[in-house]
Amino acid sequence: MPEKQTLVMKFGGTSVGSVDALMKVTQIVKDARIEYARVVVITSAMSGVTNLLLDSAALASQGKVDSLPKAESSLREKHFAAADALIMDEELREATKSEINSLIFSLIDLCKAIAVLGEASPRVLDTVASIGERMCIRLLGAILESAGVNAKAIESTGFIVTNAHFQHAHPDFKVTTEKTRKLLNPLLENNIIPVTTGFIGATPEGVITTLGRGGSDYSAAIIGAVLPADDVWIWTDVDGIMTTDPRIVKGARTLSEITYSEVAELAYYGANVLHPKTIRPVVDAGIGLRICNTFNPSHPGTRLIANVPSDSQARNGQVVKAVTAIRNQRLVTIEGRGMLGVPGVAARAFGAVASTKTSVPLITQASSEQSICFAVPSESAISVINALQAVFASEIEDEDIDRVWMTEDVSIITVVGVGMRHTPGVAGQVFTQLGNNKANVLAIAQGSSEVSISMVVAAVDTELAVRSLHELIVK
Ligand code: ADP
Ligand code: ASP
Ligand code: MG
Repeated sequence: MPEKQTLVMKFGGTSVGSVDALMKVTQIVKDARIEYARVVVITSAMSGVTNLLLDSAALASQGKVDSLPKAESSLREKHFAAADALIMDEELREATKSEINSLIFSLIDLCKAIAVLGEASPRVLDTVASIGERMCIRLLGAILESAGVNAKAIESTGFIVTNAHFQHAHPDFKVTTEKTRKLLNPLLENNIIPVTTGFIGATPEGVITTLGRGGSDYSAAIIGAVLPADDVWIWTDVDGIMTTDPRIVKGARTLSEITYSEVAELAYYGANVLHPKTIRPVVDAGIGLRICNTFNPSHPGTRLIANVPSDSQARNGQVVKAVTAIRNQRLVTIEGRGMLGVPGVAARAFGAVASTKTSVPLITQASSEQSICFAVPSESAISVINALQAVFASEIEDEDIDRVWMTEDVSIITVVGVGMRHTPGVAGQVFTQLGNNKANVLAIAQGSSEVSISMVVAAVDTELAVRSLHELIVK
């Protein structure tokens, strides 16, 4: 009898993106069954598919449908190649391909409708984006079945119930708990592995929503928390959470353990290896979380651990543990001598920003109160500036506010480590390192948790800043 009960495993886009990867996934699922009595599989869309779907919708909204046949055939080829190679039973293979085909047709219909309307609402974009995961569960479910695994594809729209905040929907945990248990437990009790869609849910009325880009990790956390599972494993294409993005620094190393508060900062500040919302449900439910590599499954990966006293980490010399970067940001500054001591400027400023539905990853304010400066994603910068100019129109006219302006593209670089909390001189080391490498810092912020320090640098300095700060970790 397996010792542990329930395991939730999520496979990312690259992990299901090719015949070779899907073979690896099949073996991983088989192996997991030896250790766990109940296994739930969650999958992303095959790599590149979500982007292709959303690009098709974006083009359609400009009336461009010429490239639809190309998108259609590329989706068909990608999924059918895997089906042909890995689904042995002809009937099952043809049934799977025909279901995938219907979903591809629904994309074409949606794009044509978008082209007629000349716009794509967030609601329709979520339906378009959902097609990737919905195709993938059918493919993976049949591949597993073909390999002798008792598996069943099931859409999470039947049990992840969310609000109608399309593109960033929030789950209703109470209803989701009831529905998830009701739909998944009977399968699990019959030794069936549910293969379900990451990333998507539905409103109580059944309209499809998504949890945000990269949201399949969050789906795994939600399902893990509500079942509840003993463990959640996130399978990706690197050996776990690393000291920095291995695409930027070749010498990045895997962290065997990382605390919840560190990973929360890392995920928030751009390490896209884990969606930032993943952490809270698993921490609240006390579930073990592990990040591991589909292409190197014997590697233990990274385990998340409860927060340890920071000085014990500092003693281990692990003060700065990781470096991250968020690109494509702009720094927006509101400045004016008339702002000094005027109550409510910040509240009004952030109210105006919120009205544009923009989130602000970093804020700094000079102690003189003569300026407020914060970062916003580049694509929202113009609407933020417009909203600020409108809300402060009379102060601008009276010259209490001199100007509201923004920089060119910048990046937010963050160093993370719980050991920084009680270690003097970390900020000094960080800025010396950047200075020695001629990376100019435009703004600074330190989280109140003191687990991270963030700096803003010009876009061109991003890689230089990450590389040089990484030298503080891997000397
Ligand atoms: P998946 O499709 O499996 O969800 P993602 O592409 O979303 O995978 O996330 C994995 C990628 O995150 C890695 O391939 C890596 O390039 C990138 N990444 C960025 N920062 C880190 C980091 N600190 N540790 C590991 N990977 C990172
Ligand atoms: N397929 C979705 C995306 O590309 C969700 C995910 O991969 O987690 O954003
Ligand atoms: Mg991801």
